[in-house]
Formats: sequence, C-alpha cells, structure tokens
Amino acid sequence: MSAGRLTPGSAREAAPALPVGEERSLRAFPPKPFTVERAENATLWTTDGRTLLDLGGASQGVAVVGHNHPAVVAAVRAQAQRLLHVAQTVPTPTRGAFLAQLHDLLPAPMARTFLANSGTEANECALKLAAAATGRGRFVAAVGSFHGRTTASLAATHRPAFRAPFAAILPQTDFTPLDDIGALQTAVTRDTAAVILEPVQGEGGIRPASPGFLRAAREVCDDTGARLVFDEVQSGMGRTGTFLASAPSGVVPDAVTLGKGLAGGLPVGACAVTDDLAAALPPGGHGSTYGGSPLVCAAGEAALSVLVGEGLMPRAERLGERLRGALSSLGHPLVRGVRGAGLMVGLDLRVRPAPVLATLAGQGFLALTAGTTEVRFLPPLTIEAADLDATVAAVGEALGAAHG
Ligand code: PLP
Repeated sequence: MSAGRLTPGSAREAAPALPVGEERSLRAFPPKPFTVERAENATLWTTDGRTLLDLGGASQGVAVVGHNHPAVVAAVRAQAQRLLHVAQTVPTPTRGAFLAQLHDLLPAPMARTFLANSGTEANECALKLAAAATGRGRFVAAVGSFHGRTTASLAATHRPAFRAPFAAILPQTDFTPLDDIGALQTAVTRDTAAVILEPVQGEGGIRPASPGFLRAAREVCDDTGARLVFDEVQSGMGRTGTFLASAPSGVVPDAVTLGKGLAGGLPVGACAVTDDLAAALPPGGHGSTYGGSPLVCAAGEAALSVLVGEGLMPRAERLGERLRGALSSLGHPLVRGVRGAGLMVGLDLRVRPAPVLATLAGQGFLALTAGTTEVRFLPPLTIEAADLDATVAAVGEALGAAHG
C-alpha cells in the first residue's frame, strides 16, 4: 500500500516549476503538474516528496509488471555489464531467449517476430508486410481505433484530428464501425491489404470487439486475400487476463503486434507473423538499428518470466473483476457504464472526464482518458488490491465533486 498521497487539489494549486531543461521538450500535450524521480510497483515519488499511484496515467500502461520490478532491474544491470548493443543482424543468446519465451506465449501459427522500439513501429512492420504480401495499398480499420502516430499506423488511426495535419503523406484507410459485421464485409475488398483491429480498443474508449466480429474479420480476410492484423500493443502482455486479449475468441490473425510493457519498461515493439507474412519480407525490406537490442531483450525476458512466474495474468482477471464490480457498485448517476477486460478498464461518464481526472490526480490517483467520455485505468497487474479499493473510493469522491 502506498502512503502519503497528495492532498486534494494540491497538484493543480501548486504546480512546481519544470526541471531545468524540460522547457526544451517538444510535446503535443501539456506537461503534468508534478515531477517524478523514482518509482516502485504502482507508486511514483515526486521530487518534492509526494507519492502518486500510477493507474496508467504516468506510464501510459507500460508498467504491466510494475515499475522497476527487481527481476527486470537485475536483468538490465547484468546485461549492461556484458553487452549493450548489437543490431538484430547479429544473433545473441539474450535475444534468442526472449524470442523463444515470447513464442511460447503466442499462438502456434505465429512463426517469426520482428523486434522494434515502439508499438507504432510494430504496426508499421505488420502493415508493410501485408502490403508486400498482397501488392495492395489500402487498409481497413475500426471506428475508434488507435494504432500509432507514424505513417501507416497513423493512417489506420481513426481520430480525424490526429490524421488531418498529415493527410498528404498517409495511405488510404476505410473505417468501419466496431462489431458491425455487415459494414466490415462491405469495407473489405480485393484492394484491401490488411484489416487492423484492436481486440479491445483503448485510446478511442475501452471497447472489447465481440468474438463474432473477430471471426468475421478472419473470414472476410480469407475470402478477399487481405491479411488480418491484431494490434495488441495495449491489450496484450496479459493485461486482459490472457497473454493476448484475442485468445478467448480463438481467432488467429496473420500478424499480432505488441509493445508497451513487453520489456518491463524499456522501449519495445514486436510484430509476430505467420510464415506467409514472414515470406513476404524481401531481403533488406525492413530493419531497425536498435530493434531487438540485447538490453531490451534481457528486460523482456525478465518481464515475461515475472508475468508467468508471478501468476499475473489470472491476477489481472481477478483484480479487473473486482475493480469493475466496485466501480459499478458506486451506482453514481454520472456513470453510464463500466467496460473492459482484466485490468483494462473504462468508466464511461455522462460528462467530460477531464475534471474527474483532475480531481483524481489532485488526490494522487493518475488515470487516463479514453474516447471523449471515459476515465481509463491501465494499472500494473502487480497493484495491491487495497490500492484499487482506495482508487474506487477516490473515484466516488471525484464524481461527487463533479456532480456538484
Ligand atoms: N497501438 C495501440 C493499441 C496503442 O494503444 C498504442 C499506444 O498507446 C500504439 C499502438 C502506439 O504505441 P507507441 O506509442 O509505443 O508507438
């Protein structure tokens, strides 16, 4: 249990000055009103001695095995003394061990993995391979999707405000409503290179795709020759209770992408593909100087060992049920619904979520928004149940304040 949270309202009233040099950071979002110097599990320590609870608002969902898990830190230390970097062209036992462990957790048809440095890069890899395999250049994605901010991944990201300034350099994507099988079947044609879907949408609002919709996506891809990509950057790594959120549907895509917490807090992306897509990669057709760095692979191997060894996937399922149940039991008139799977949870409000998030942050609880009306929780799977209970109590108070 973490101690000494912010007193209500203090984060907004007394925002400390930015650390020297931070004013040089080019950001698309304003900086948070606190400065963090240390973290452990779900707790962050600010430079002025306060503690905050990371419910995803600080790490953006990366701290799946908690911040600074001792096993990850030890693996990084040991690897740093041996070998920091060689490129993916140079085999190393560390990368081999990470890939072997990753493939133990992936569906058997996933034959090869390209390691990158971020989720958006993993998606670029999947979409490039689909284009190479099909010779086609159009994508189909879901309304509400978020796949990243580079080129193909941004093209497949639904929110027009994210895409509009960069439209001139983006390939064509058709957006189809989630769970509307008829619309999906119309959108996917013999010009479609790939259908890319989040099995549980994150940024656009926490929305699990129905198993029937995922099955229909598989079928329409098989019928048209399009490739199916599951973006599990946010929903994967055990967050929803299984290693992949798509696992319970039984649907196996042609490519699955991962990122966020896969390397315990180091920058990572992974694009796992079937033999068919692997064969589409021409010699020299894709690469990354840092992708698959031994340091990141050592952290990744440790993080996967923690995930499995500490039983964090069933824990995510248990704690997620408890969190969703407790949020629903608040029975607050401002709450339209509670959605999610495992510890990927959205609280859908009848009002804009920003004031509720600000009140929560003032009390030391750092959550995220999703879509236009949701408060989103992506806590470490290692979070204490008592911290989730305290979160729910704080949400109750914040909703009370918003209700006026
Ligand atoms: N895909 C999904 C589903 C995401 O949630 C994100 C980031 O939030 C990305 C891709 C992009 O990942 P990154 O920010 O590591 O590039």
